[in-house]
Formats: sequence, structure tokens, C-alpha cells
Amino acid sequence: METISQEQLTQLLKRITGYNSFRPGQEEVIRSVLAGRDTIAVLPTGAGKSLCYQLPVHLTGGTVLIVSPLLSLMEDQVAQLKREGEKSVAALNSFLTPGEKSAVLRNLHQYRFIFTSPEMLMQRHVSERLRSLRLAYIVADEAHCISQWGFDFRPDYLRLREWLAGFSERPPVLALTATASDKAIGDIENYLMMHSPAKYIHPPDRPNVALQIIPLKDREEKTEWIRREISRASGPGILYVQSRKRAEMLAGLLRADGVPAAAFHAGMEKDDRMLVQQQFLNGELEWICATNAFGMGINKPDVRRIIHDQFPPSAAQYIQEIGRAGRDGKQSLATLLYSPSDADAAVFISLDELPDPAAVRFLAECMNNGEPPEQAGERAGLSETAVRVAAYWIAEEGADGAAGRMEELAAGKSREIGEMIRFAEGDGCIRERLLNLFGARPVGTDVVCCSACGLPADLLANAVPAARNRPALLDWQERIDRLFGVASS
Ligand SMILES: [Zn+2]
Repeated sequence: METISQEQLTQLLKRITGYNSFRPGQEEVIRSVLAGRDTIAVLPTGAGKSLCYQLPVHLTGGTVLIVSPLLSLMEDQVAQLKREGEKSVAALNSFLTPGEKSAVLRNLHQYRFIFTSPEMLMQRHVSERLRSLRLAYIVADEAHCISQWGFDFRPDYLRLREWLAGFSERPPVLALTATASDKAIGDIENYLMMHSPAKYIHPPDRPNVALQIIPLKDREEKTEWIRREISRASGPGILYVQSRKRAEMLAGLLRADGVPAAAFHAGMEKDDRMLVQQQFLNGELEWICATNAFGMGINKPDVRRIIHDQFPPSAAQYIQEIGRAGRDGKQSLATLLYSPSDADAAVFISLDELPDPAAVRFLAECMNNGEPPEQAGERAGLSETAVRVAAYWIAEEGADGAAGRMEELAAGKSREIGEMIRFAEGDGCIRERLLNLFGARPVGTDVVCCSACGLPADLLANAVPAARNRPALLDWQERIDRLFGVASS
């Protein structure tokens, strides 16, 4: 495609989004897609990744296929496009009734944007229909899921490779992600069969999110700290915890303290999760006590606080989760609570799930005998995730290959946890130490940096107290201040 002038691009941007200029990173990616190149774009959360696939199709014509790993994320993106006036959008996912699904499939060629899940894409009649369309390009959203183990892992995402291999002339692929280690970028390149892709990797630093690490003795001390902090400080905030039980427990305590808070985790019914998410977006809930099931694709620009009850099992996940604060560009604060026993817990949670070679062989044998992997996995006491991952590799590479993959995964996991422990226990500027893990440097100069560099009292006091309905706690002076809109600290 011939080179597009700056003016043409800007006009198009204006027409589609109403904005006059691109945000950093967007334009290069869009130009690369327009040039027909395979492209990997690592843009920080909140940088406007979706525009990168939204805009080029207006110039190329045809259809864009967006493969999105999470249904909630997909629903969000579809809703957003529709809000912007785009009518030519379809979402092919398990939310559709069989009737709706065949209607969408019949009319596929009419859509400009088709969203689908990896699982749906692998259904034969769907994959063939999609491959026969005039696809301008294919987008792998949240592409780091390709190389992740755990909640985000989707074996079918790996099968994208087979689907891509079935094209005689494959359209260019755009992989989008917020954070990616070198390993993840290598995996993306490999699994998506990219041909010397253009890579646009933006530093993961979020200068308006100040970083704080607070050492505490144990879990009880953390619970106390969380209650004290959250009942005096305003949100909106996300409290990340490692287990469903702890999410429920802390949400209960906070509610008892008068904080509008709710739990969010994958063990909840889908409707309940949607409701909590919606209430948080609307501002009816101020705090969410969540496992890592919460957050991907959720666009709430004014999240002021992120608190981690415990560090996540990798720096990439940590940086992604704290990146949900301050998308509006305003000063925000991310706090990591750390106690010495966290290291053991993290290793346990992370590695305990991985099946050992004996379990992999057992699973392989059962699968050979025609037993469904889920059933065999249950007999072997394996988690659903473990079964999903192991079964994928058994099918791909046999029992020995899969056992080797599991060992590789275990080694990778423990390396990542080691990094997080050194990060949490280390000395010196927290921002520098975190970015170091990505081979990056802080981008801003005039920033409120971290608790090692020193944080200003007003940020820690969280300047504006929560506007909650707690009259009993206010003395008359506070009430008057409030009536006159004076922020007391
Ligand atoms: Zn610092």
C-alpha cells in the first residue's frame, strides 16, 4: 500500500475518534500494519492499544479478525467500538445462542471487525469460514497469554499457529500486549509464525504511578494495615490478593468497616462478576478485593490505588497489575506489602500446580486409553489449569516432551519468583529496580518516584478522605469542612 501522508492519517484519526493527535507509540504501529508487516507492539496499559487495529482497516478495506483471550475483554471492546458509532462489528463467542451464531456466520463477509476467542476459532466450521474471508490483518490481543502459564493460559491460543499455517497467503499479524519479557516476545513470534516482525516495544514505566513497598511481619499485620489504610484513604482502588478465600475475607472486613468493597475472583458466577465489575466502573464500589482474574481489559481511568497483599509470581504480571492505576494520567500510588513468608507461599502456589513427570505420564496413559483428560486429571488430583496445559503438550509432543515442558515451566516460574523476591527485598530506588527487570530505565524526570526515594506526605495521606456516608466518625469541624468542600488531610 502506498505511503499515507501524516495529514491523511490525522484526518482519519479525527474522524474515527475525535482526537487530533496520536498517543505515543500508536502511529508507528499503525504504519507498520499498513505496510503489511507482521508487527509486535508492546504498549503500556492505557496507551490506546485498540486504536492500532481499529484504524488501519479504514484504509486497507476488508475485515479485521481480532482474537481475544478473555470474553469480558472482548465484550468491552465490542461495546466501545459500537459506542464510537462503528456498526460493522461482530463477536463470535460462547455467549451467542446457536441461532445467533449461525446468523453471524452467514453474514461474516459484511463485518469490518470480527472478534473471536481462540476456542471458537478452532471450531472447524468457524475456522474455515474465517479463513475464506478477505482479511486485511489478524490481531492477537493480549498476546502475552500465548506464553503464560496459569489463569491466562489458553492452549487454543497456541493452536493459532495451526490455523495460521492453513493460509496459502497469510494476512499480516499484529500482536498486542502491555508487558512482555524477552521470552514472551520470542514465544509470540514463534507461535504466531511471524516473519521477521517489526517490534515496537515501549518502556513499561508509568511515571504517574508512585511505588511503595511496605515490609510487614506476617499476614495478620497485613490484614490490619489494609483495614487501617483503606478505611481512611479514598479509592477507587484494587486490592490484589492470591486466593479467593482471602479476597472474600478482606472484602467482608472492609464492608464491616463501612468501605463499599466487594470481592472478585474466578470462583464467582459470571453474572456476579459482571455486576461487581459494573458497580466498580460506575463508582458504586470503591474497592475491589480481587485475584488476578480481575482487570485485564477493564478500562477505569481513575483508579488511584493498587495494593498488593502479596507479590504476583512474575514482574510482568506485577507491572501489568499496577498499570491499572492512573490511566487518566493523574498521580496514583501502588503499594506492595511484603513479609518474609511470602516467598515460600509464592513458590508453593506457583509450583504446586505444575504436574510432575509422573503425573504427566499418568495423564498421557489415560489419554491414550481414550479417557478424557479432565477426568484423568481429577483422579490424579491435578488442577484444571495443570490438566489444560499438560494435555496440550501431551497431544503435541507426547508424554516425554510434555514432561520436559513442565520442567521448563517450573524452572522459568522459579526464576521469575526469585526476581520478585529480590525486587521486594532489595535496596535503592524501587522504580529503577523494577524497570531493570525489563532492561528499561525510568522515563520521567520530575516524578513522584517511590518509597525508597521518598514519597510526599500528602500522597501518603491520600489528601482527600473518602466521601463515605459515615457521619458518626466525623466531628463538627470535619462536617463543616466537608459542607464547604474543603479537603482536610
Ligand atoms: Zn525511586
